[in-house]
Amino acid sequence: MNEKSSQPDPPPQVFSIDSGEPRGALAADPPLYPTDEFLAEMAAESAKLETATPQEILRWAVDRFAPKFTMATAFGPEGMTIMHMLAEIAPETPVFNLDTGYQFKETLELRERVKEKYGIEVEYKLPDTTVQQYEEMHGGPLYATNPNQCCFDRKMRPLHEAAKGQHAWASAIRRDQSPDRAAAPIVGWDKKFQLVKISPLANWTKNQVWDLILKESIPYNPLHDQGFPSIGCQPCTRATQLGEDERAGRWAGFEKTECGLHNS
Ligand code: SF4
Repeated sequence: MNEKSSQPDPPPQVFSIDSGEPRGALAADPPLYPTDEFLAEMAAESAKLETATPQEILRWAVDRFAPKFTMATAFGPEGMTIMHMLAEIAPETPVFNLDTGYQFKETLELRERVKEKYGIEVEYKLPDTTVQQYEEMHGGPLYATNPNQCCFDRKMRPLHEAAKGQHAWASAIRRDQSPDRAAAPIVGWDKKFQLVKISPLANWTKNQVWDLILKESIPYNPLHDQGFPSIGCQPCTRATQLGEDERAGRWAGFEKTECGLHNS
């Protein structure tokens, strides 16, 4: 039962992009294919990078994949940390945000702070409908009854479009954030988006991230100081209580912990 609608949770559904068109790096020019040889090379690089710093991992990623190397950010502390590092290493790296139309204004304001401080212009990737159109199509906000479909339409589809033609993308996940993320390699093939996924902060802890943010005055979302450790769209994020998991405030009331970007 979900608390928000007092209705039973919808049955599990599998959402997929099934157009049959090449995706991600397979649609790049030149395309990058996950051959056995390439995957073995990436696994070997990933093993070597286990002891590297996030900056070293980012340098490797830029050397290996730019200009077909990109990054998606929701302006979380980890993403801000990576942008801070990229500003020194490769500020020309294209960075984008999935603007669902439901983000907090504090999150959107961070885009301007990033531009001012680092000169990095984070590009918004938009769904194909406005919030108003989407809610009219579904007779109300879908996040309240079927957040999987809402995340798929407003995050996954735009992300598939953004990944098309790239070879690699950086993700800001940490292994200690959730069981889903615990096995993330530093470098791996992202089957869902069909491109190389690089996680420079996989081995970092929350404390390491925040130590750097405070030491280097990296901009961060002020909502973190108001009890929101993990911030997504406004309707699907609540503050957490002491002792709760850091992602407990996401999709509270639903059996859902990920929007779909980082689980397979
Ligand atoms: S987090 Fe919530 S509002 Fe945002 S896309 Fe997912 S279900 Fe929709």
